[in-house]
Amino acid sequence: MEWLTNLLVPGGKFLGIEWNTWKIVGWLGNVVFFSRFFVQWYATEKRKQVVVPVAFWWLSLVGSILLLAYALFYKKDSVFIFAYAFTWIPYIRNLVIQRRHAKAHIDCPKCGFTVAPDSRFCAQCGVALDPAAK
Ligand SMILES: [Zn+2]
Repeated sequence: MEWLTNLLVPGGKFLGIEWNTWKIVGWLGNVVFFSRFFVQWYATEKRKQVVVPVAFWWLSLVGSILLLAYALFYKKDSVFIFAYAFTWIPYIRNLVIQRRHAKAHIDCPKCGFTVAPDSRFCAQCGVALDPAAK
């Protein structure tokens, strides 16, 4: 994997940091994990209510797995490993619940809003829905 580091960071140093493949994995994890805050913040500002978009859970999962790999195989630090060892559980659980929720609910054919399974009208635009036609 040394070739990858040499390809991405010729000479091994960038921004005064000594780079190697695991540093790239770790920083990629940092960027992905940190980006979730902006995704959540943007979604909340857009809806003017606190929302947690699905992308937040995906970014949390991918970012924490990259950081766990970095902690496990490079840093080998128990504090760092423990910080990310179990966080994937609620992330995956939230993704599973979201998927079940999305499958059970109806998408409004007019506006795309997701409404409860037995809804007869769209809560967003008011169009009549047919709960039997799923
Ligand atoms: Zn609608």
